[in-house]
Amino acid sequence: MDVHKIAIPTPYKIGDVNAFLVKGDALTIFDVGPKTTEAYEALQWGIRAAGYTMKDVEQVVLTHHHPDHAGWTDAFPHAEIMGHVYNDLWLRHDEDFLNYHEAFYRHNLFESGVPGAVIEKNVQVRREMEWVGELPLTKILADGDEVPGHPGLKAIETLGHARSHLIFWDERSHDVIGGDLLLERITPNPLIEPPLIEGEPRAKSQLEYNASLDLLRALPVATMYTGHGADLTDIVPLIDARKKRQHDQALTLYELMGQDDITPLEATSRFYPRVYQKQFGLTLSKTIGALDYLESQGMIESTKRAGIYYYKRVK
Ligand SMILES: [Zn+2]
Repeated sequence: MDVHKIAIPTPYKIGDVNAFLVKGDALTIFDVGPKTTEAYEALQWGIRAAGYTMKDVEQVVLTHHHPDHAGWTDAFPHAEIMGHVYNDLWLRHDEDFLNYHEAFYRHNLFESGVPGAVIEKNVQVRREMEWVGELPLTKILADGDEVPGHPGLKAIETLGHARSHLIFWDERSHDVIGGDLLLERITPNPLIEPPLIEGEPRAKSQLEYNASLDLLRALPVATMYTGHGADLTDIVPLIDARKKRQHDQALTLYELMGQDDITPLEATSRFYPRVYQKQFGLTLSKTIGALDYLESQGMIESTKRAGIYYYKRVK
């Protein structure tokens, strides 16, 4: 693939996000950075360095809806904008969707044993929204769809880190544009996000993420272009190491549970005693991921009492 990488600064701890300008029959950019002035400038310079202008970009393709990836759709008003159906809900900044989103988190936090005052501090979705673009998708990409203008480049649905996550697999070169599925230095968080259709059960993000990693592992990847950090060429050992680490961490939680019957909140305070209050959303979603994993392995079981989940070891 003819790929030009553009590193874009973000206001997040993770640092830069990568966008990829790909020249095929069409000129397409994969991801567009957060909607900040600094990111816009980096985008403009990167596209110029590749020998094009912003107006030459014919298509924007999004790997997922998170603000560090899906901000500057607004910079390409004449381009086709493509991504997963779930991504569109974010770009529309629809009030009903935002209310639904907050209601979902409120419910999810309650079920996790979180007290009311703490819940209200942690349901705000809106502060993230200022960095998300407002130009919605012009075309939905589903699993298996080919990216227009790039014969053989196929979208693969890879949920887990985001409910809108797609990677793009090039059947010809065996290169893959991977979003945040597998990163050089960090393990993406299995974020808890509301289901696409209201009323569906909460997705088990960690289990979905593991299935997505297995799917990637089975592909004979040449180069993986990642959302943060360096390109990857030898992905199998990295995937195996990440899965082993996740398994070991889950076993640590299993030990910390002892013989107690505990809520996800209590599990989080044991698993991340020093940071859970500061990084509440992230540590809770990681803990729920580990609980889902242990339950899938038949090691723990859950019951629900007065609307709150409790987990304990299987005797
Ligand atoms: Zn990211």
